[in-house]
Amino acid sequence: MSDSGNAGYVFGPVPSRRLGRSLGLDITPYKTCTFDCVYCQLGRTTNRTVQRKEYVPKDLVLSELRGFLDEIEGDIDYITFAGSGEPTLHSRIGEMIDAIKAMTDIPVAVITNGSLLFREDVRSDLLNADLVLPSLDAATEPAFRAVNQPHESLEIKRVIQGIEMFRKEFNGKFWLEIMIVKGMNDGIYEIKALLDAVSRIDPDRVQLNTVVRPSAEDVEAAGRDEMMRIRERFGENAEIIADVRIGVRADILPLLQRRPLTMDEISDALQVHRNEAAKYLRELVERGEVASVVHGGKRHFAVKTG
Ligand code: SF4
Repeated sequence: MSDSGNAGYVFGPVPSRRLGRSLGLDITPYKTCTFDCVYCQLGRTTNRTVQRKEYVPKDLVLSELRGFLDEIEGDIDYITFAGSGEPTLHSRIGEMIDAIKAMTDIPVAVITNGSLLFREDVRSDLLNADLVLPSLDAATEPAFRAVNQPHESLEIKRVIQGIEMFRKEFNGKFWLEIMIVKGMNDGIYEIKALLDAVSRIDPDRVQLNTVVRPSAEDVEAAGRDEMMRIRERFGENAEIIADVRIGVRADILPLLQRRPLTMDEISDALQVHRNEAAKYLRELVERGEVASVVHGGKRHFAVKTG
């Protein structure tokens, strides 16, 4: 714990494309997870486990959150369980959700890998959340083992059944994320199996993502065209949430070749958060490919000529 009494269980608020302005809660030690996904941005799992326990003290998480809520200015869209491990491994997550609901009107979201939803206690713990975002990257055992490298006790059939059961019991919003890893879960057979599972689960939304470097292992992202094709197969309620990762960098220059644009216009045109557009623009400005100029009282970005 730091001198200020902030143990780092609460982080943000962070801008999130899916959740708006989100205040994060990290309730497991670093890389304590049921999976060791090849695409994990946090690196390799150091503690692959299915054991539920009070990994960090519930009361400290809640008192830290209370302090944040007293100090934060501006609206928060969600208080989100996410962070450096699998939050449903925390045995008191249900009590924490209930306590937050009593503390504030801000909706509570849980980002989970969905692997423990076959357990009745885990499902009942999440029932009072407002939004649950499980992931499901594979629907066959070989792809599950390849992409998620799960704890040995986990089987994909049971994981899918758990997600289905929770979906039926839960009255809140339910968005399913699928991470596409090129060459691992994007084949015809794999996508077909995922489609079958998704139609049984029937989520409110399907959010398709692809990997971003650096990942735990050297894996490749699916390209924009492939992601579009996969999205079409998943139908109306599927969306791609990975546009940054599949071409924003490449898309900025052609966009600016047409005319100079402000940061807001660029993020609107590319459907990415302003901060993400800013990151790539900064790189392009540093490389001397893009210039920033003030025009009509507003900062614009233009391709450098000559
Ligand atoms: S489930 Fe999440 S935290 Fe766990 S290994 Fe996969 S990406 Fe990383």
